[in-house]
Amino acid sequence: MEKSKIFEVYEMHKGRHKCIYTRSFAPGKSVYGENTVKKAGVEYREWDPTRSKIAAAIMKGCPNIFIRKGDIVLYLGAASGTTASHVSDIVQENGFVFALDFSPRVVRDLVYVCIDRRNMAPLLEDANRPDDYKDKITPEVDVVFQDIAQRDQVKIFLKNVEQFLKKGGYALLCVKSRSIDVSKKPKDIFRKVRYELEQKITIVDSRDLGPYEKDHMIFICKKK
Ligand code: SAM
Repeated sequence: MEKSKIFEVYEMHKGRHKCIYTRSFAPGKSVYGENTVKKAGVEYREWDPTRSKIAAAIMKGCPNIFIRKGDIVLYLGAASGTTASHVSDIVQENGFVFALDFSPRVVRDLVYVCIDRRNMAPLLEDANRPDDYKDKITPEVDVVFQDIAQRDQVKIFLKNVEQFLKKGGYALLCVKSRSIDVSKKPKDIFRKVRYELEQKITIVDSRDLGPYEKDHMIFICKKK
C-alpha cells in the first residue's frame, strides 16, 4: 500500500491492475460491500471507480480532487453514502461532510452510514432549495460536490456554490448528459455546461468518466 499523488488516497497494484483506497474512518464497517485491506493495523477501503464518480475521475488521471484532511464538504446527491463515505475517510476527524439527498428511501440507509462516522451528517433536503438547509450547515464550506441527475443540475450547482462555498474554494460537478437532454449529443451538452460554468467560476480540470460511467463528465472548479 502506497500513498498516491491525491491527498489521503492510497494505491496498490493487483497484478497489472491499480486499485485505489481510502483509510477507513470507521474500521470494521463496510458501506457497499467494498473490499478492505489491513496493513500495519490500519484498515483501507477499496474505492470502486464503477460505483463512484470521484474514484472514476482519479482513475482517469485527475492529478488533484481538491478534497483534503480537515475540509468541510457539502455533498449534494449523497444517495446511500457510497462515495460520501470515502469523502468522510479523506476529511477525517477535523473535517465534516454534510451529506444531502432528497430521496427518503436512500437517506434511510445514509443515516446508518452516518451513525458509524462522527464526521458526517445526513440531510433530507432538496439541493434546489438552499434556503431550507442554510441553518443546518456551516455558513461557509471548503468544497461543494454535486452528483444529481437533474435537468437543471448546473443552475442548482451554481446556486449552492454562490451561497455556501468560500472564496477560493473548490467545487466538483458530475454531469450526466442524458439527464439534461437525451436527444442531444453528450459533447454538445458538455460544451454548453462548460460555457455556463465559465461565466461564474474557473474550471481547473474536467474529465470524461467513460468507461466507468457512460456519457458523464466531471468538472473541477475554483470559486473566484
Ligand atoms: N453520489 C452518489 C454516490 O456516488 O454514492 C450517487 C448519487 S445518485 C447518481 C443521484 C442522487 O441524487 C439520487 O440519490 C437522488 O435522489 C439525488 N437527487 C437528485 N436530485 C436531487 C435534488 N434536487 N436534491 C437532492 N438530491 C437529489
